[in-house]
Amino acid sequence: MDMTESLSPALDSVADPISGKGLIASGRAAEPRFDNGTVSVVIDVTGLSGDARSKLEASVKQALIAVPGVETVRVAMTAEKRGRKIIAIGSGKGGVGKSTLSANLAVALKRMGKKVGLVDADIYGPSQSRLLSTEGMRPTAQGQKMDPVISPFGVPMLSMAQLVRPGQAIAWRGPMAGNALGQLVDAEWGDVDLLLLDLPPGTGDVQLTMVQKFKPAGAIIVSTPQDLALIDATRAIDFFNQSQVPIIGMIENMAGYACPHCGEVSDPFGQGGAQAAAVSMQLPFLGRVPLDIGIRTASDAGRPPAAEEGDTVFAPFAQKIADWLNPAKPASF
Ligand code: ADP
Repeated sequence: MDMTESLSPALDSVADPISGKGLIASGRAAEPRFDNGTVSVVIDVTGLSGDARSKLEASVKQALIAVPGVETVRVAMTAEKRGRKIIAIGSGKGGVGKSTLSANLAVALKRMGKKVGLVDADIYGPSQSRLLSTEGMRPTAQGQKMDPVISPFGVPMLSMAQLVRPGQAIAWRGPMAGNALGQLVDAEWGDVDLLLLDLPPGTGDVQLTMVQKFKPAGAIIVSTPQDLALIDATRAIDFFNQSQVPIIGMIENMAGYACPHCGEVSDPFGQGGAQAAAVSMQLPFLGRVPLDIGIRTASDAGRPPAAEEGDTVFAPFAQKIADWLNPAKPASF
């Protein structure tokens, strides 16, 4: 009998800790390989804690060793999902700085040596061409696929804004937007292995189609300290939870205002709201970015502060994302 006929169901009988589906059905494990009494499995453990990984490894070993004919089970754990990883950056509402943070995180990850690209999927206000200084650059196409444009900061990117002629406004409707966004993600990204996806604000159909189709490895939520923004942020958190996208954490933006004249820091919208919300929802709180005129003027002028030598605002977030993607636990073989 073909061993995979008994091994695959055994592997799929183990539930993915996040989605609850079988490990193969959820895409976490590929079909097991069997050779001479030894079964080998590769499991993508992206988004799982060290504890959850150990438990999963034990469950997989237990399920497979029980299959007649199996003598040894080898489990390789990897956070490298087959193919490119997508990180979605979302917010409950517009204007919280999601695009500014996405651009700066991309540049900071690039400066760390990551092969990172960026898709500006914000159909309501695509601003990445301005933020990453690629205005006027038009993507070319190879056959059916688009080639991203390369920003002066070394980050390849594609934006919804590039799909229309300059100055031409388009009211994207759901299916049309979905198709256009699909083309941006499915472009010729070359050796890019990490794609940041600057999602439209909110939790509507366009966002749902995107996460269902492209299954981000993780999501980052951007919120401001205002209560209203926080209520919206909780919707975004629910949205990613229901879509079974693990949330890497929340970033509080525009937290505290540093007066450019006297340096005094004030908190017009209160302090600690986003952090408290994150803690109460058991979400990692990744940190704060201050409301800083310098961030606004530099970003809006196409000079992301993350590109500056000695940047200490955005680099720590990039490091946290990199750590989340590459957990300390080494592969077991
Ligand atoms: P979103 O993508 O959430 O709609 P944007 O990134 O376009 O928001 O930001 C809205 C405005 O706020 C922009 O003008 C941007 O420069 C500014 N901004 C964002 N973050 C900060 C910050 N930390 N300090 C100052 N201005 C900021």
